[in-house]
Amino acid sequence: MSAADLLSRLEAQETAKHTILQALKTGRVHHAYLFAGPDGVGKELAAFGLAQALVCEKRNTERDRFQACGQCSACLRAMPRDENRLAVHPDIVVLECGLYAPETIGRRTPETQDLSIDQVRTLVIAHAAYPPHEGRAKVFIVRRAEELSVSAANALLKTLEEPLARKHFVLLTSRPESLLPTIRSRTMRVRFGPLPDSLVAALLEASGVAPARAREVARLADGSMATAAALANPEQSEAREAFVARAFAAVDAKALDIGLALAENAKKDKGALTTHVAALATAFAARASAAAKAASPNAATLAARGNIALLALDHLAGNGSPQLVVEAMLIRMRAI
Ligand SMILES: [Zn+2]
Repeated sequence: MSAADLLSRLEAQETAKHTILQALKTGRVHHAYLFAGPDGVGKELAAFGLAQALVCEKRNTERDRFQACGQCSACLRAMPRDENRLAVHPDIVVLECGLYAPETIGRRTPETQDLSIDQVRTLVIAHAAYPPHEGRAKVFIVRRAEELSVSAANALLKTLEEPLARKHFVLLTSRPESLLPTIRSRTMRVRFGPLPDSLVAALLEASGVAPARAREVARLADGSMATAAALANPEQSEAREAFVARAFAAVDAKALDIGLALAENAKKDKGALTTHVAALATAFAARASAAAKAASPNAATLAARGNIALLALDHLAGNGSPQLVVEAMLIRMRAI
């Protein structure tokens, strides 16, 4: 196995890895997978790894050679590169909301809300009748599959209902419950779990974060490298600390106006909000444990407030409105 074999780089996802390798080994690769799990745990690496194995020129040329060789031209071209993490191999196609310029997918306006049917038509359906360019396999990787519009999902479903020879789909999602039931039922789900903190810390260190900082960030990251990278970014960590400080002030203040302003602000920076609320939950937990050690009567209240923050994280993951989630969270924290 070489380092250029992408599946060999997949760490801490033994079940998912086993499922994929087993499919390659037995030659029974499903035509549509749903890789489900938190962001930043290796779903996309696994998807590119599977695609790489399917297009590899050396695979299956000998007995027991069922993984990507990592060396041939196809393997090298299967590696995701450039700022959009695309492969130059023509048989590995990525679909993602907003990834392509409108004119390249036959639209007048950019995709802002969802992954449109135009993208599915241009990238998938227009090529459905043709064999893969290089003959071995064609793999479509759909990022954030929960963003497929209903019409795009239905168009994709038609192709999932009539599996095409040597064509495979890998849908990636952190919110499998948000996908149409018909998409869920026609795809084979492969589950990805959160990464252990020790691995997150090691990966952060490998990317140049100081060891002590890496361990601290890993503790807050919920097993997600995406969250960890955002937390390790100094600009974002400043914003996060400001959020935590303002949230504490909002909970303790007599009037609700600080809380309302914080909630109003939350809607502007939805992307960062999850890491901010996660940091708030951790801050409450730390205060609760310090209070418990000091036998302070506040320990239970602080712990309960930490739990309310965790609940808010669930609501955000379930696509709750950021402003309403933050507002409800602060009101509940103030009530106890
Ligand atoms: Zn190869």
